[in-house]
Amino acid sequence: MSKPTIGIIGGGQLGSMLSTAAKNLNIKTIIISDDKNAPGQFFADEFIFCRYDDDSKIEEFCSKVDFVTFEFENIPYNVLSKIDNIKKVNPKPSVNKIIQNRLSEKDFLNKNNVRTTSYISVKNEIELKSGQDLLPGILKTCTLGYDGKGQYKINNDDELENLKIDFTNQYILEKLVKLKKEISVIITRFGEQRYEVYDPIENFHEDQILKYSKIPAEVNKNLFDKSKELARYIAEELNYIGTMCVEYFIDKNDNLYVNEIAPRVHNSGHLTINAYNVSQFENHIRAVCGLEKVETKKLYNAKMINLIGEDILVYRNKTFKNNEFFFDYMKNTVKKKRKMGHLTIIEK
Ligand code: ADP
Ligand code: MG
Repeated sequence: MSKPTIGIIGGGQLGSMLSTAAKNLNIKTIIISDDKNAPGQFFADEFIFCRYDDDSKIEEFCSKVDFVTFEFENIPYNVLSKIDNIKKVNPKPSVNKIIQNRLSEKDFLNKNNVRTTSYISVKNEIELKSGQDLLPGILKTCTLGYDGKGQYKINNDDELENLKIDFTNQYILEKLVKLKKEISVIITRFGEQRYEVYDPIENFHEDQILKYSKIPAEVNKNLFDKSKELARYIAEELNYIGTMCVEYFIDKNDNLYVNEIAPRVHNSGHLTINAYNVSQFENHIRAVCGLEKVETKKLYNAKMINLIGEDILVYRNKTFKNNEFFFDYMKNTVKKKRKMGHLTIIEK
């Protein structure tokens, strides 16, 4: 019998690491991407370069795979559901549709009584000016933002008054949370009430980009348990299949807010490759391909450092100790603020 094949939409570093995990499970990988330089092509068995609205290429892709997943959330809903009609996509396109828009994502959470920061929808000048109660706040594009892109901090009424915004995008204005900490919980859901949940990870950002992550997160037992419990609840409500990440804010009074959900494997979970017996990537492949669920256990405490922009050049020439694991995403050009690789250090 030929090997099962998973199709991965998107060819960034997450696609690469999913491919590596799939290969280790003896599953063939095909990456499809609209970026001809996508680094995922160096890690997958096969690479298809095309626009996502190229129906014949999409059909070719579907005919070659048994399972489909994706590694970034900004795929138009109609593209994902077209694929889903031919070969099942997990997580489901309807789940991605909710999460890929910051407004529908936060509405979904609040409808389910999950606490987020206060927010309003902003489609025009008048709605923007009505946001005074949310200051200091952050205005964010509802879709397509990442690593702080498409975000504007607004400190006071004056700044609100003078802000020039192009309303071709829809926005959300969020109240700024007085942060004590940020944590995330990675969870893989295999089916009804069937999960593997990783312990909370503590995250440190610089310029709204994740700089490093560590386990254990330094939080009290209540926050530790509550963050895991909420991740289970959200995954269940979404009827989610695969790995997802819930990013949390903790304020100065130890209140827990969901910041956002990522319907995919997540940067903060890269340390699971070396610190757990089963990584977030392997668990995702297992869930999407209907493989056995393996009890997931932490092996080591760990820290993961993102190598952003030119950081990578230094690391490419370094030698590493046996508790240090260097990952080079093999991106073809080094760009400022671009995630180029990471280093995980485990505590043996
Ligand atoms: P992205 O999609 O770019 O990850 P996020 O909404 O997670 O966008 O914002 C990136 C980072 O900016 C957060 O991890 C946090 O550090 C900071 N941030 C965003 N929104 C808020 C907020 N409402 N209050 C406090 N900090 C925020
Ligand atoms: Mg985020």
